[in-house]
Amino acid sequence: MIDPMTQQQVEGAARAIIAARYAIALTGAGLSVDSGIPPFRGPGGLWTRHGEPPMNAFQIFMADPKAGWEERLRRRGDDLYRGLRAAEPNAGHRALVAMEQLGVLRFVITQNIDNLHRRAGQRALAEIHGNYQLVRCLSCNGRFEEANIDLNSLPPDCPECGGLLKGDTVSFGEPIPADVLSRCAEEAEQADLVLLAGTSATVYPAAGFALQVKRQGGVLIEANLYRSEISDQCDFALRGSTAQTLPALVERLAELRRAALS
Ligand SMILES: [Zn+2]
Repeated sequence: MIDPMTQQQVEGAARAIIAARYAIALTGAGLSVDSGIPPFRGPGGLWTRHGEPPMNAFQIFMADPKAGWEERLRRRGDDLYRGLRAAEPNAGHRALVAMEQLGVLRFVITQNIDNLHRRAGQRALAEIHGNYQLVRCLSCNGRFEEANIDLNSLPPDCPECGGLLKGDTVSFGEPIPADVLSRCAEEAEQADLVLLAGTSATVYPAAGFALQVKRQGGVLIEANLYRSEISDQCDFALRGSTAQTLPALVERLAELRRAALS
């Protein structure tokens, strides 16, 4: 249930979205909590239990890509990958798809690697930290379903250019792929509203996009269970699970659209 104070924020947020010229969303781990995906950090987090990957994981991979691939294939049975494969999109993911279909949300930048935005049907999407189901060519940035890649000889080669393939998930020490980064920068440049969903927006470069839109005079809407460092900068706060607040927001958006058309 949405309490009256949150409902008031939903109303304000919905009107701001309708008034916006170009609204985008920035999403993070909180959005997928209701899909059963545990966070990486914090109590019960995967890294808390299993240890964080080394800060130079990318350099270790580049020093011996064959060993890196063998490790990747071994880890398929780990909790993390079992949890990712079992997860389904939740009402929060579906609400963002509905906003795209209503024509009020132009683009989603996600920090999540869990593939749930795509599975929910989001079309205009950048996965800034990659997608665990894809592999990426380090030469041409081509992305491929891992299932379609011949893994008999490791490391596998890019089917397009013969370059070195790596898991698409961005490793510690690895730069964000340039094509994704420039796309996100273009989106942030034209945006006049950012819906922050399930992210405290403290991780760069994603956090920078929200602050950039704010500096451009745009509106920030925070949909998150908890207050975060960015809360003071936000114009509206939908406090609660995104699986509840985002559907409430969509319901109101749909009503406002209908009222505008009638
Ligand atoms: Zn390639």
